[in-house]
Amino acid sequence: MQSDSSVGHAVVIGGSVAGLLAARALSSSYTHVTVLERDTFPAQTVSRRGVPQGRQVHALLTRGAVGLDGLFPGFIDAMTAAGVPSGDAQADFTWFLDGHRMAAAASGLRGFGVSRPRIEEMIRDRVRALPNVSLVDGTQVDGLVRVGDRVVGVRVRGRSGAEDTVPAELVVDAAGRGSRAQPWLREFGYPVPEQTAVRTNVVYVTRHYQQEPGLLDGRLGATVVPFPGQPRAAVVVRQEADRFAVLLAGLLGEEPPTDDAGMIEFASALAGQDAAEVLRSATPVDEPVKMRYPESTLNHFDKLDRHLGGFLVVGDALCSFNPIYGQGMTVAVMEAELLQFLLAEHGRQDLAPRFFAAAATLLAEPWSLATGGDLRFPEVEGERGPQDEEVNGYLDQFRASAAIDPVLGTAFLKVANMMAPVTSLLSPELMERTQRPRAQ
Ligand SMILES: Cc1cc2nc3c(=O)[nH]c(=O)nc-3n(C[C@H](O)[C@H](O)[C@H](O)COP(=O)(O)OP(=O)(O)OC[C@H]3O[C@@H](n4cnc5c(N)ncnc54)[C@H](O)[C@@H]3O)c2cc1C
Repeated sequence: MQSDSSVGHAVVIGGSVAGLLAARALSSSYTHVTVLERDTFPAQTVSRRGVPQGRQVHALLTRGAVGLDGLFPGFIDAMTAAGVPSGDAQADFTWFLDGHRMAAAASGLRGFGVSRPRIEEMIRDRVRALPNVSLVDGTQVDGLVRVGDRVVGVRVRGRSGAEDTVPAELVVDAAGRGSRAQPWLREFGYPVPEQTAVRTNVVYVTRHYQQEPGLLDGRLGATVVPFPGQPRAAVVVRQEADRFAVLLAGLLGEEPPTDDAGMIEFASALAGQDAAEVLRSATPVDEPVKMRYPESTLNHFDKLDRHLGGFLVVGDALCSFNPIYGQGMTVAVMEAELLQFLLAEHGRQDLAPRFFAAAATLLAEPWSLATGGDLRFPEVEGERGPQDEEVNGYLDQFRASAAIDPVLGTAFLKVANMMAPVTSLLSPELMERTQRPRAQ
């Protein structure tokens, strides 16, 4: 039984990227959508407490940018107008795969140098402008309200500490990795999902520098990807506000330092010297910030035999990926597209089981892409398939051949940018190109 005030009202817990995008999707089918955020939304383009990863370099994959442009027409042009640098993901960006420098060519894939706070702010401004969406900050959700087998609202606490309830027909949990969905379900006697976790112990250090014309030769950026035997990564990218963002990352026990000399030494040991050069020559504009990311997690809500009606979980609360692959925001975009599609196709009825089943299908590809990369490292625990060794051997050769044949590099970047499935790398044409003899 639902109270009248809950009908047509959707509540989203968490006003970060996944929550805002979910609100955008719901706004087409619900009379009103309220986003409840614990933090105060910042007045400037700065990181905030509830999103500590906002201070780290975030890649916006091409698929994510295209999806944002679909949800908010004109988004890509608005990024450019806001001073976000962009360029071809292969021609204007240097890639080192397994230590091999990828051959440059025009890939047709657009890359963007945009900070995480700027992306969130741009999404927030657009969601705030939707006439039937309210963004309410300074409000923490402490629990769900249930009647029978459905949620009918949430319990909230405002800045003053005053408690209240907000009625809702649908509650979407977009509270990130700290989501309380599981204890809330347990409290109501509902089953909680099993979780698959892949532990890589990633450590990030990001620092920003003033852009200097001589550095990076006009390119958008450069990335050194980690691989077995070299569990270190480096990224340097031009961003809005005339800044270079430099990210050093280590995994499986490798930890980037935060002092100048140590950062330079860490970056200098890698194949590409772009990050090292920026660290050596450019003027820093802030302090280095370190962040740990122990493991990727996938929660199998789709496998539950009983769902709490009207309760969905999205974004990092549902599935959180090793950040090295830059997938989180793009997957949040795709989940919002999915939500919008499911609502348009079959309405609000039985949304929870329908959403979790379809989201599991959506997540399979990015999850296998990321964990497939992680499981190349023999130290990483996880299930390996019988064909993994053969496929990994082929992909090792593929990455080496991409140093000579730019077509292979483009194919790799299409997959990495989620514009093509992993299986596209196994086409007969690419297999033949991979096996062409290479000059030593
Ligand atoms: C180090 C690092 C680097 C990353 N790099 C990339 C990258 O390169 N590219 C990419 O696409 N993704 C990247 N990601 C992932 C990306 O940050 C997330 O996928 C993205 O922010 C979407 O997350 P989310 O909205 O689900 O959760 P979050 O961003 O974690 O936000 C959760 C929100 O919920 C709020 N909240 C929590 N509990 C409550 C409550 N009880 N009541 C009210 N509000 C609440 C929080 O304040 C916060 O605003 C990275 C992640 C990390 C950790």
